[in-house]
Formats: sequence, structure tokens, C-alpha cells
Amino acid sequence: MKIAVIGTGYVGLVSGTCIAEMGHTVICVDKDKSKIDMLNEGEIPIFEKGLKPLVESNVEGNRLFFTTDIKSAIQEAIVIFIAVGTPPEEDGSADLQHVIAVATDIGKYINDYKVVVNKSTVPIGTAEKVRSTIQEQIYKRSENFEFDVVSNPEFLREGVAIEDFMKPDRVVIGTDSEKAKKIMKELYQAFTFQKDRIIYMKIESAEMTKYAANSILATKISFMNEIALLCEKVGADVEEVRVGSGSDTRIGYKFLYPGVGYGGSCFPKDVKALIRIARKNKATSDILEATEKVNEKQKMVLVNKVCEHFGENLEGKTFAIWGLSFKPMTDDMREAPSRIIIKELIKCGAKIRAYDPEAMKEAKRIFGDNPSISYTEDQYSALKNANALLLITEWHQFRNPDFDKVKEFLKEKVIFDGRNQYNPEKSRENGFAYYSIGKK
Ligand code: NAD
Repeated sequence: MKIAVIGTGYVGLVSGTCIAEMGHTVICVDKDKSKIDMLNEGEIPIFEKGLKPLVESNVEGNRLFFTTDIKSAIQEAIVIFIAVGTPPEEDGSADLQHVIAVATDIGKYINDYKVVVNKSTVPIGTAEKVRSTIQEQIYKRSENFEFDVVSNPEFLREGVAIEDFMKPDRVVIGTDSEKAKKIMKELYQAFTFQKDRIIYMKIESAEMTKYAANSILATKISFMNEIALLCEKVGADVEEVRVGSGSDTRIGYKFLYPGVGYGGSCFPKDVKALIRIARKNKATSDILEATEKVNEKQKMVLVNKVCEHFGENLEGKTFAIWGLSFKPMTDDMREAPSRIIIKELIKCGAKIRAYDPEAMKEAKRIFGDNPSISYTEDQYSALKNANALLLITEWHQFRNPDFDKVKEFLKEKVIFDGRNQYNPEKSRENGFAYYSIGKK
């Protein structure tokens, strides 16, 4: 089958590559010429485990192509995936301009029957907007082409995106067309070979499922973060509480880790967007609003602990930061808690020495030439002459550091552990002032 994927970002590039891996011919399109040039030169614009060799082998196999020529891609493919960004507008609602721009192009260039698959996370009712936008363009051309619009939200997790796409927990397909259903089944069959994991539903339900799933996960995190702060007040240890609660199979251990708040390109924007959807439909969104409020506060928890220890004026103090990406195994810093933490520390007069295994290029782009922040070649160099270490992202290499080196390099032996990675007793025995989340 010939497939076009429009938008070659985290989702588009991973989806397109995995679909090509299953033998289909995939044309990945992006309007960002520099991204397409990079890909055509064999470079991968993002860090995602296992992606580079998979892209290389499929390009070599003539199954995967990269282009800015959206017209040819639309005309050659039978299935067209829309995988462009849907960032939040100022009021939190999803900005659909990129989705509608692609739908307009599809209407302008459509030349035969197509299945238009919306993979971007979009508000309920967007499939209908995409359909009417395409139809309007076809009318303008005084032509008549058949097409179906399908909702196929993506659930991959950055860091393990290839694994998630190749072996999905489920594939959600929202459609009211038997013809589109058959084509989608054929496309996804290879990914659900072991056991049929395709779930068909109404288009509106598919669009809603994505928002509901992300909001449930974000709510679990905020819930546990709130419990963690209460643990600190009442003398409980949130780690013990996590294990004690998570062992209940109705609850489970996943997404119960307290920390510095959730970030990334999905949870914050999707919770915000669902709140807007609820308001627009005159429904309540009390739990979602609390989830968001708790998360905003949580991003400040580590900064507050720093100020409690060192005072509010951090002039002359330097902090070593381990971890910049919003979670390990990615270079993505969209809505990363590190951005708020670094900005607030600098606002209080501090200097930052940062290290991240993959996200430093992105950090340099975000913070520009801010003189208060410098980057180091390795994790230990970040500690040199710093007044404290702040662990923000739990990359594997930060889990068991050489504490003798940490002691030797830090000017003051203070650790703020935003991910509860270290043993409090051991840290204190080692002579560190140790602060974590949810433990007194
Ligand atoms: P991204 O910003 O990494 O990539 C989007 C790409 O689309 C960009 O490269 C951009 O240049 C391109 N683009 C925009 N308008 C275009 C147009 N008119 N024609 C061609 N290309 C265009 O975004 P992403 O993280 O891949 O997310 C895409 C969608 O998938 C979003 O709706 C997001 O919420 C959803 N999603 C993301 C993830 C994730 O982990 N990143 C997971 C599931 C779902």
C-alpha cells in the first residue's frame, strides 16, 4: 500500500518509519525544508531509541521517502496520515491551523479515493471539520472525488516510541465507513498479528479516547504529587505509600511516582484542551482543572526547597542540574519542568551548570545565549564548584552516581532529588543534606 504521512515530527517520523518497516511504501512530508534535507542526508532530527537504523534500512529498501512536495504525496498515496502539531492556543484550546492547512491541501490535490487519517490529537468534531474543508476545496475545483476521514489517535510514548508503534496495546480507529475500515485493518494487521488489538468506534469516541487516556495518566501523577506533599507534612514516606497503594491490582504501580510535575508535548496541552472542550460544551472539568493546578505548583516544589535551604536571594550561588528533557530517553523539552526550575533559579540570582545526555542542543536553542547558564561535557563536570545538585530527569546514568566524586566536586554537599532516586539514609551518612519529594 502507498501511504503519505504529512508532518514528519516525533509522531509522523516514527509512524511512517514503522509502517515502511512492515513493507508499505511511505512518503513522509514536512513543510520544514531543513528537516527534510536532514533526513535525506541520513540525519535524524530527533533523538529516539532505535529510530536511526530503522530509518536507514527502510530508505535503503526504497520503502521510505522524505519530501516537501505535498501534492505528489497526496496524489500517489491511498492513505494519507495527518500528523502535524496541535499546540495550545492562548486560552488552552488546541490550535488546528496546521491540521486545516493539510486538509486544504488534500482538497486541492486529491485525484482519487483516499482515506484521510487524523493521527494528530484533536478536539472532538475535528474529523468533520477536516471532511468539510476537503469537500469545500473539491467543490471549488468543480470536481467530485470520494474520500473518508478516519480518526486514529496515537498513543506512542517518546523514548520507547518504536516499540509502542510496532507492538501497540491497542489501535483505536474511529470511522463510519466500511471501505475505510477495511483499508485500515489491512494497514494495521501486521502490527497486531499476535492478537487483534484494533478497536473500532465512532469517530467522536476515538477523538475523545486520546484526551481521556492522557488526562487519566496526568491525573494519576498529580494525585500522587499531592499525596507526596501531604506525606512530608504528616511524616509518612511517599515511597512506602506508593508501594502500599500500587500493590492493589485495581490501582497498579504505573504513573504513581511523585516528582517535579509532568511535562512533554502531550499531557499539559491535552489536559488544557480537554478543559476548553468541557467549557465549550457547558460541562464541568473540576478534576482536570485540579490536575493542572497541582502540576503547575509541583514544578515549583524543588525551587521552594532550594530557597528554604539557601534563602530567597541566590546571588553568587551555582546549581548543577542533571537532566533537562521532560523525561529520560528523549531530547524533547516541550513543557519540561527543567525550564521552569532553571528560569526561577536564575530569577533569584543563581547560575546554572547543566548536563543532559541528549537534550543539551535543544536547551541551548531554548535558553539562547543566557549568560547565567552553561553546559558541561559530562555529568560530573556540572558539579564543579556548584552549591548543590538538582536531579530533574531520571536518566539511567544518574541513578547510581559515584558519590565520592559528587562529594569531591560539589562546593556544598547538598542534593535536591526531584525524582526520589537516592537513598535518604545513605545520602545523609555520606554527609549530604538531602531533599527529596514526599519524605520528611
Ligand atoms: P512535532 O511538532 O514534532 O511535528 C509536527 C510536524 O508537522 C513538524 O515537523 C511541522 O513542521 C510539520 N507540519 C506542520 N504543518 C505542516 C504542513 N501544513 N505540512 C507539512 N508539515 C507540517 O509534533 P509531534 O510531537 O509529532 O505531534 C504531532 C501530533 O501528534 C500532535 O497533535 C500531538 O499531540 C500528537 N501526539 C504526539 C505524541 C508525542 O509523543 N510527541 C504522542 C501522541 C500523539
